[in-house]
Amino acid sequence: MAPSDALSSDDQNVDSSAPADNDSATADKNLTRFEDLGVSGSVLEAIRGLGYETPSAIQVAAIPPLLAGRDVVGMAQTGTGKTAAFALPILERLDTNKRAPQALVLAPTRELALQVCEAFEAYSAHLPDVRVLPVYGGQGYGVQLSALRRGVHIIVGTPGRIMDHQAKGTLDLSELDYLVLDEADEMLRMGFAEDVEQILADTPDDKQVALFSATMPAPIRRIAEKYLRDPQEIRIKSQTTTNQNITQRYLVVSYQQKVDALTRILEVENFDGMIVFVRTKNETETLAEKLRARGYSAAAINGDVPQVQRERSVNHLKEGRLDILVATDVAARGLDVERISHVINFDIPTDTESYVHRIGRTGRAGRTGDAISFITPRERYLLKHIERATRQQPVRMQLPSTADVNTTRLARFDDAITAALQETSRIESFRDIIAHYVRNHDVPEHDVAAALAIVAQGDTPLLLDPENDPLARVINDDKPARQRSERGGRNDSDRPRAQRRGRHDYAPYRIEVGRRHRVEPRQIVGALANEGGLSRDDFGAITIRPEFSIVELPVDLDRGVLDRLRNTQISGRPIQIQPDRGRPGREGGKRDGGKRYGDRGHSSHGSDDRPPRKPRHRK
Ligand code: AMP
Repeated sequence: MAPSDALSSDDQNVDSSAPADNDSATADKNLTRFEDLGVSGSVLEAIRGLGYETPSAIQVAAIPPLLAGRDVVGMAQTGTGKTAAFALPILERLDTNKRAPQALVLAPTRELALQVCEAFEAYSAHLPDVRVLPVYGGQGYGVQLSALRRGVHIIVGTPGRIMDHQAKGTLDLSELDYLVLDEADEMLRMGFAEDVEQILADTPDDKQVALFSATMPAPIRRIAEKYLRDPQEIRIKSQTTTNQNITQRYLVVSYQQKVDALTRILEVENFDGMIVFVRTKNETETLAEKLRARGYSAAAINGDVPQVQRERSVNHLKEGRLDILVATDVAARGLDVERISHVINFDIPTDTESYVHRIGRTGRAGRTGDAISFITPRERYLLKHIERATRQQPVRMQLPSTADVNTTRLARFDDAITAALQETSRIESFRDIIAHYVRNHDVPEHDVAAALAIVAQGDTPLLLDPENDPLARVINDDKPARQRSERGGRNDSDRPRAQRRGRHDYAPYRIEVGRRHRVEPRQIVGALANEGGLSRDDFGAITIRPEFSIVELPVDLDRGVLDRLRNTQISGRPIQIQPDRGRPGREGGKRDGGKRYGDRGHSSHGSDDRPPRKPRHRK
């Protein structure tokens, strides 16, 4: 494979000789525009509508060769913008007059398949009548069949279900032009290797293939060598050094909670000036507006904001007339404001180079700085990249609790009283008025003071009610919301952390395929994940006995999932899954030898491992 000279991988090519401040590196990358890559017309319009300012590194490297018809092997994960990297070239060249599927994207899970479908729909918003169909296990065949009969242009599916359709003759891939393998390593880990190879072999020889994978283990290289034609290999080069006086923390938070989480952090962090980074231009505006509505002085800067106005906002930040800038990477390029004590990555950037540049906006002129990154559960793997690129380990922080917020609010309230008491001449003039009131109404002075506090506070309660905390149920919960709701809506954070990830989380289920049927754990995981919409983390130990197997699945497995799984077949046999009640005939019933599937060795994190707060001067 011919490595791309444009970029190289942040996994393997850590370049320790890179400069400490990479303004220039980022600037070069940021000079590329989508139109320079060959994205045009309605697709470009959609990208603009979404507020994408510049292409991400993987997009810069992958879009031109894909548009030129080359096969591509890209090392990239979720969060790098890889979906647009393969979706935009497909949409650019799609012929909507054809009825047979032209593009097939294989994804390891139903969740990812749906996500990719949504992305295609967003990117084709201005193209007439592009039909995208998700095809995954667990969904009834009826919907899929009628959509297929009507004709679709793009199919995004899990390998198992695509194979089922192939076997039934309900999916015609004879006119396929583009095949994408998304998260190829994950598909292999889930036992889909044979299915993927079969699909590669059974589709037209002259199709264009793009393979994206976070890692490049030998089996993936082998597939690439066997089925791809002289692919362009794409790796992304990372920046390596960061300022040692910047404290890096991260918060695991769901997408929906980000605004509330940010407001809470603003309440308790002792910040001076702040930059909040988001991915798109539109988001800078909406987030700045939300912060202003919550009483913060915030302004948006992005590539569309005229230079004069940007400079004005930056000057206001310097002078302390503004506290928060909500920015995109482009707008904040090279920004040097000593007062910036905090950088918040509201959206984690698509590459480590941008991360290093962003956090370098704080800790200027020998000061200390704080960088806090919001990471959704799906983005957690990015931490490893950040660690490698910065040679520092970001510390996990917990979302400030209502008690943290209330302590800060009370301290501020005290400070406000103390400050007002310093205004001796004004105190003097009010003292007589209060004394007059106390005499005439026979009310103790502290009650009058409390009444004045109500006047000052207005209708807003001074303290948060811990019993009524909208964030309490989701705070510091690691499971994606979709997975929680698929399991009957029970929230993992309802249970103690120790129980959440331990073996107690699972219940044994018996399936009627065993060693005699030549079944292997990966086939079990692949089949159950595909048909039941389970993720790899949902599997505990798997024990294969001669006649049957025992699989540990979450105790709160939704009944609907179980019903869907009941008809699943492995090695041509119905698995007849049911809770294992240790029935006779269990051949000893001992499951101690059960092999644990996947890496469940998450470390537990302390309840609050924030580093001690540094005293900071506030204006
Ligand atoms: P992906 O890695 O494809 O899952 O994309 C991660 C996120 O980045 C998604 O929310 C995309 O909408 C967003 N995204 C992708 N490309 C860009 C871009 N060039 N600029 C801003 N956001 C982007």
